[in-house]
Amino acid sequence: MNDVSRSFRGNSNAARDIAHHLHPYTNFKKHEATGPLTIVRGRGVYVMDDDGKEYIEGMAGLWSAALGFSNERLATVAYEQMKQLPFYHAFNQRSHEPAINLAEKLKAMAPVPMSKVFFANSGSEANDTVVKMVWYVNNALGRPHKKKIISRIKGYHGVTVAAASLTGLPNNHRSFDLPIANILHTSCPHYYRFGKDGETEEQFATRCAEELEQLILKEGGAEHVAAMICEPVMGAGGVIVPPKGYYEKIQAVCRKYDMLFIADEVICGFGRTGNVWGCQTLNIQPDILTCAKALSASFLPISAVMVNDKVYQALATESDKIGTWGHGFTYSGHPVAAAVALETQKIYDEIDLFGHAKRLSPVFQKHVASFADHPLVGEAMSVGMVGALEIVADKKTKAPFDPVAVGAGNRVYNHAVQHGLFIRNMGDRVAICPPLIINEAELADLFGRLRKAFDETLADLR
Ligand code: PLP
Repeated sequence: MNDVSRSFRGNSNAARDIAHHLHPYTNFKKHEATGPLTIVRGRGVYVMDDDGKEYIEGMAGLWSAALGFSNERLATVAYEQMKQLPFYHAFNQRSHEPAINLAEKLKAMAPVPMSKVFFANSGSEANDTVVKMVWYVNNALGRPHKKKIISRIKGYHGVTVAAASLTGLPNNHRSFDLPIANILHTSCPHYYRFGKDGETEEQFATRCAEELEQLILKEGGAEHVAAMICEPVMGAGGVIVPPKGYYEKIQAVCRKYDMLFIADEVICGFGRTGNVWGCQTLNIQPDILTCAKALSASFLPISAVMVNDKVYQALATESDKIGTWGHGFTYSGHPVAAAVALETQKIYDEIDLFGHAKRLSPVFQKHVASFADHPLVGEAMSVGMVGALEIVADKKTKAPFDPVAVGAGNRVYNHAVQHGLFIRNMGDRVAICPPLIINEAELADLFGRLRKAFDETLADLR
């Protein structure tokens, strides 16, 4: 992953971190050498490290902290809920008001009519739950062979065993003995990288749908293929907005083979793409929808799975046959997380956060587009308030830099950190996904710092 160019010697947090802490998504040997960058406090769209340096959090943490890094109301609600009922579960027909209220609210917000809401703690758990639901539903419907689920190359759906299998990125499979059986990957709808010479965007979208259909037929057709899962806009795969018409075409194929359509709204949900849901921006009608991250503005871990009535009825039939739906987490719908998520949604409504994000989207997109003529940028892509810049060695041929010898994306990342800005580089694709509360002046500041990082990278490489 990224280098953080700073010395850890003499910094006691860093030394203790190296000694004791096993990190997610980290090259452990590199970490032993360079140590962590330890964040101690947040304020609005800024976070501060343990040396007192402030950074604009241009990724909203992990595409998630829509309200930034400070909010008194959410702190108070968590405290009050902890005093009243710090924990209760929802197994065996128990319930509590925070979970009921949040389920009701989410259903009212859903992009299509939904029947029920199941809670988990992370995006991965939500998507793992969905895999089991798809299998359970098809057993309920007497279709024991209809179990294959199609995801996409470069899709990201998490890291638990089934969710990591859905994820279509090599590092989530390599040396983990994944993917598991019954998970397949179809083409990535990235026109810039995978469109053929002379192919229009529409022809490319048609080809993606044809390749999906070929995969379905190869895997046994409607009898064997059960579902498809998509992030409306791919996030961790590089912020990939599919071409116009793509979802209409692939949903038609899924309907033809009687497959469930699952929208992973873990990043896109709650205003990120310019509408409440990515499904609305991209014209998707899901049977199942997962969400997390901005559900609680990331103040506490919580995720949700919404299912339509067709799915619910099958789940209900099978649970009655067996005696239970044998799935659920101790912390499914945890009252403190649910109360904080509900309050988050109230705040979004009160400050019209989704309206703010929609109004600011053209400004954000203009900033992203302004990088298109930078000598290092091959593609500048954005939708709503999320975007990416792809670094190339040759703008004409789209040839990339050597990822190891040059590491251009890492260089941009490191220069940005020096300038007090966090962005994320996925190889040589640089993502920007700021807290949705960001204002115009802060956006201008963010992109000003990013431009310096690109210019310094260009100077390094000349
Ligand atoms: N789905 C998408 C689209 C994501 O971006 C992520 C995480 O980034 C996940 C699922 C997994 O969520 P978590 O990290 O909470 O398990």
